[in-house]
Amino acid sequence: MEINHNCPDCGENLSLDMDSAGITSCSNCGAQLELGDDAAANKTVRRVKSFGPRDYTDELLEKLNDLERNSLEESAIASGQGAYIASEFMSLRALESVSRRITNEGTWDNAIDRIEEQHGELSGYIGMLRDRRNEVAHPDAVESSEHLAERTFEQVKHTLDYLEDHITD
Ligand SMILES: [Zn+2]
Repeated sequence: MEINHNCPDCGENLSLDMDSAGITSCSNCGAQLELGDDAAANKTVRRVKSFGPRDYTDELLEKLNDLERNSLEESAIASGQGAYIASEFMSLRALESVSRRITNEGTWDNAIDRIEEQHGELSGYIGMLRDRRNEVAHPDAVESSEHLAERTFEQVKHTLDYLEDHITD
């Protein structure tokens, strides 16, 4: 079955073969598109997410709680829809939750201070993420992009990989 659907990236009206489920690309802008169904069984076309919880090892995912895993998934979904600040906010939210859990500190700033004390080799790196979290959480002018959303997601992942031995469920 062919349906007409607009490309979520460039708006081009595309004729898509919904029977060939899976990934296709926009004939106008080349965006990778995923065909599927939503909860009401309507046909959907979503921008393919370039990153997501699948980038994590199973061992690490199992150490995360539901909120943290959901935050990473929502980060990926938001980026796939072009909501890049929202994407960064959600991946940093996962980091905030883990940081507060492993340090028993109640605030983001105190948790990051404690991690910097205990893991000096992380300090510049996690300090950068502290600043980014404050930028995307506050309503001053802030810009993001697919590249920045992916970079933040990857930086959160590297930090959690590093801290993995300290995370207990
Ligand atoms: Zn397009």
